[in-house]
Amino acid sequence: MANAQTDTADIGVIGGSGFYSFLEDVTEVRMDTPYGTPSDSLFLGELAGRRVAFLPRHGRGHHVPPHRINYRANLWALRAVGVRQVLGPCAVGGLRPEYGPGTLLVPDQLVDRTKTRVQTYYDGETRPDGATPSVVHLGFADPYCPEGRRAALGAARGRDWEPVDGGTLVVVEGPRFSTRAESRWHAAMGWSVVGMTGHPEAVLARELGLCYTSVTLVTDLDAGAEAGEGVSHDEVLKVFAANVDRLRSVLFDAVAALPADEDRDCVCAHALDGIDTGVELP
Ligand SMILES: [Zn+2]
Repeated sequence: MANAQTDTADIGVIGGSGFYSFLEDVTEVRMDTPYGTPSDSLFLGELAGRRVAFLPRHGRGHHVPPHRINYRANLWALRAVGVRQVLGPCAVGGLRPEYGPGTLLVPDQLVDRTKTRVQTYYDGETRPDGATPSVVHLGFADPYCPEGRRAALGAARGRDWEPVDGGTLVVVEGPRFSTRAESRWHAAMGWSVVGMTGHPEAVLARELGLCYTSVTLVTDLDAGAEAGEGVSHDEVLKVFAANVDRLRSVLFDAVAALPADEDRDCVCAHALDGIDTGVELP
């Protein structure tokens, strides 16, 4: 495109704490969707020659807790401005002593331990706008985009931040942190890190045919992996703040390294091939 529209983007970044001023020269776009309003406006701008839409996952001022985020509206709004590839950085707890604060882990698997969240667009329920999605069962064996993971891992290494390549992100309901027993159980299952927002973000992205890559930053050792008092919110924010510039650089580089839209040929890009969703995707 010779003149990129200021109200479109092809890459989305759903940021956690500390990413509210991700881009310069931003266009703020307020969105509404058949699933309600997103956490906040989308902030669109250019980065490394790519059009990027940033969405503060918890809203400006961090007012939306993980279990109350409108994940469906967030992903739908990104797709509606043209986004086809999404990076989802998030803060997590380490479930192994070797995954201490400051560890960057790019998971390749996901376990859902949330309880109350709507995790599909395709529930056969008629929407307020009168459209009725089909009931659709999509493959989700590999929840993350292989191309996005490659871009994120390469970007981290390029910034001398040796990432952990692969591992399982277990997503809990929150907003509380895990008990020691839960935490030890998660670790005993062989899972790597624990967070509160990775689900249903990843599956909703897949349901819209979007590439989704989770990039996790360990801010603390989870209750079962350390000997002290357990996690505090202050501790999490402190470690996140100390690493936020570094993480932003990695995400910028990852954006630059993502494939062009027309070159996407991954499992995510083909997720909806031959499937009748019953509703028109934006
Ligand atoms: Zn993909």
